Amino acid sequence: MQLSDFRNEPFTDFSQPENQQAFEAALSKVREEYLGRTWPCWIGGQEGAGKKTFEGRDPGDQSRHIGTYQELGAAEANRAVEQAYEAFPEWSRTDVQYRVDLFMRAAQALRERKHEFSAMLCYEVGKSWAEADGDTAEAIDFLEYYAGQMLETAQPQMVTPVAGEHNRMTYIPIGVGAIIPPWNFPLAIMAGMTAAALIAGNTVVLKPAEQSPAVAAMWLELMHEVGLPKNVLNFVTGPGEVVGAAMVKHPRTRFISFTGSRQVGLWIHEQSAKVQKGQQWMKRLVAEMGGKDSMLIDAECDLDAAVDAVIAAAYGFQGQKCSACSRAIVHQDIYDAFKDKLVPKVAAIKAGHPAEYGSNFGPVIDPEALKKSNDYIKIGKKEGTMLVGGGDAPDGGHYVMPHVFDGIAPDAKLAQDEVFGPVLALIKVKDFEEGLQVANNTDYGLTGSVFTDNEEHKQEAMDRFHVGNFYINRKCTGALVGAHPFGGFNMSGTDSKAGGPDYMLQFLQAKTISEKIS
Ligand code: NAD
Repeated sequence: MQLSDFRNEPFTDFSQPENQQAFEAALSKVREEYLGRTWPCWIGGQEGAGKKTFEGRDPGDQSRHIGTYQELGAAEANRAVEQAYEAFPEWSRTDVQYRVDLFMRAAQALRERKHEFSAMLCYEVGKSWAEADGDTAEAIDFLEYYAGQMLETAQPQMVTPVAGEHNRMTYIPIGVGAIIPPWNFPLAIMAGMTAAALIAGNTVVLKPAEQSPAVAAMWLELMHEVGLPKNVLNFVTGPGEVVGAAMVKHPRTRFISFTGSRQVGLWIHEQSAKVQKGQQWMKRLVAEMGGKDSMLIDAECDLDAAVDAVIAAAYGFQGQKCSACSRAIVHQDIYDAFKDKLVPKVAAIKAGHPAEYGSNFGPVIDPEALKKSNDYIKIGKKEGTMLVGGGDAPDGGHYVMPHVFDGIAPDAKLAQDEVFGPVLALIKVKDFEEGLQVANNTDYGLTGSVFTDNEEHKQEAMDRFHVGNFYINRKCTGALVGAHPFGGFNMSGTDSKAGGPDYMLQFLQAKTISEKIS
């Protein structure tokens, strides 16, 4: 596939009865065939078990058992890295076209079973139908996009001709990758990070987040079905601070591909810089971390569109996106009008179990997330005025209702810390210039958006709003593979630009070959 031919997987239109029925059927298939399974680990191509296991439960209904997983330790993680190291010489020399074809087949297989994967996301992490469908579509996109990109990267590279020499530069794989994804896009980010490393010709150890191993295990099964050699993708489950940490520290680990919190990302950054006994390289680190994302609403703009976009970006998937809008920075001239339109709409959001059709606001992921959101709600009550909060939530899950806080100062905790829950801070600014300064006043720099009809302000924001993904007159969530290469500045990470034209290079190294010819 040519990269220029790549097109995004379309989202499912759930207003169509046949699509609703297909999704309902997938939900029941997942309940009957997948929920409650015990999943093995995979090390060196062999299915395995740990000494202990741990369980996953539905965040929206704690009585539902999602799966049982192997609770591995550092010894198994070390063995997985060593097995990946053993498998590297053969896999790294496979033909690029073979790897590309394999991952194109995987994309097609995922497309054919997309509702099953999405249904698992509804139960395992509490995604609504539409959010789950978006996650699965993005996973399909990543597989195809990176396959196409690898074909382009494998083409002869331009070098300057020199008389009497035949010169070439080619990209070759680098070694064993530790793949450490988060739970909030447990299919798309997990599969994208893993696939890119493998398509490049590296072998990997994948450790899914503790909250979401089931969908990763389903994807692993699919990869086995389409013919991925079992020894190139090692699959280990267990606590990040044990299993993930061992993978990071192992001397045979050549690179780490991490997506998650700033705190863990910085710890990995430090650890990966320490040279271990027997280590022959500097480890490479791709780290995509947190965000504190703002939408700046100017005095001249389509206010209704701005309100709807803020709501979609702040409360989609309960605010648990790295790109979620958690700060609306609003021009004083329209501040009251903005609030008047926003508040009733947010107050009208109803919570429900995400597997139910039409339920667009579900639970947060786990008790820690529940506590964190509730802690910040308490802080918000001190730092500002609560305009929306509370309301009925279903029993039996980790539900936090949407919250809006008024009168938050730009340097308040609610304006600076990543909450990762449905909590929005409103910040009033006197003019657009002050708005831009506030937009840039955090340690992060992931996404941001401006609503304005003023062309000078648009240009000013394009130049100075310092984020990796900047949007105009639209929400700051919903990046599409290929169209919106994704990654952030500053404490949001290494700006890897997932789904962008340079992504594959992070898993490759260039080799120059110069031959003297007569
Ligand atoms: P997290 O940092 O708690 O966990 C991420 C992964 O790291 C998990 O697999 C976890 O098991 C593992 N881990 C934890 N401690 C470890 C250690 N000591 N060594 C090695 N691995 C370890 O993050 P999370 O709660 O899963 O995800 C939410 C965070 O991810 C948010 O901060 C969010 O903004 C961020 N995120 C960023 C992006 C992005 O593209 N920038 C995308 C999605 C999520």
